[in-house]
Amino acid sequence: SHSEPRFRRILLKLSGEALLGNQDSGIDPEILFRVAAEALEVQQSGVQVAVVIGGGNLFRGAGLAEKGMDRVRGDQMGMLATVMNSLAMQDAIEKLGGQCRIMTALGIDQIGERYAAHQARRYLESGNVVICAAGTGNPFFTTDTAASLRAVELQCDLLLKATKVDGIYDADPKKNPAAKRFDRLSFSDAIQRQLGVMDLTAMVMCRDNKLPLGVFDMFAPGALAAIVRGESVGTLVEV
Ligand code: UDP
Repeated sequence: SHSEPRFRRILLKLSGEALLGNQDSGIDPEILFRVAAEALEVQQSGVQVAVVIGGGNLFRGAGLAEKGMDRVRGDQMGMLATVMNSLAMQDAIEKLGGQCRIMTALGIDQIGERYAAHQARRYLESGNVVICAAGTGNPFFTTDTAASLRAVELQCDLLLKATKVDGIYDADPKKNPAAKRFDRLSFSDAIQRQLGVMDLTAMVMCRDNKLPLGVFDMFAPGALAAIVRGESVGTLVEV
């Protein structure tokens, strides 16, 4: 039927900031549950769903380093922040009746098993949402890069980045009302024009591995499900 999902396996990247809602710090439970419900809906429609969550609502290494902290320690705090967000998301998904595993790039046995691609694929195949926590496990990287890396490793058909805007524009839509949104875009254009929705490392990772990237508004209800049905929502970046 027309509502048959178009993708076998996707990776959803959520920024930590998105979980803030109207709060200054932490997690807005209403947003958390809404996003969890949408991810679960997509998963229950037959698409395997891996998730990477950022930590910007709590800590960012670069910000801590600006205030004088050692960058590596700051990044470790940032990675732990992603673990906290992942725990919140796991809790929400389970409360909504889904099955969810956290696999973490840093060893924290009591919280989640250490990330291994082959095991993550098995969990996905057996009906779990898999949250990949702690970024790449390395300082000086971002969760955007972790998302592109995990999506490639897990052989996802699509990386979806949920943002606060409804796609990629040729200028900042908040500053320039004449800014135009792209429906489709090539990675080389996005990189050349420095249309920074994802950092360069993440973009190059997607480009080199021919992994399509969708950018959409995470506050638009139903957008995620629509994309997975194959509707043109937000911006699709392809090779
Ligand atoms: N981080 C890291 N290595 C990684 C991923 C993340 O050191 O592979 C740290 C880094 O300090 C980063 C923080 O974790 O600032 C939170 O991630 P990010 O800034 O990507 O979160 P988002 O902007 O998506 O909320």
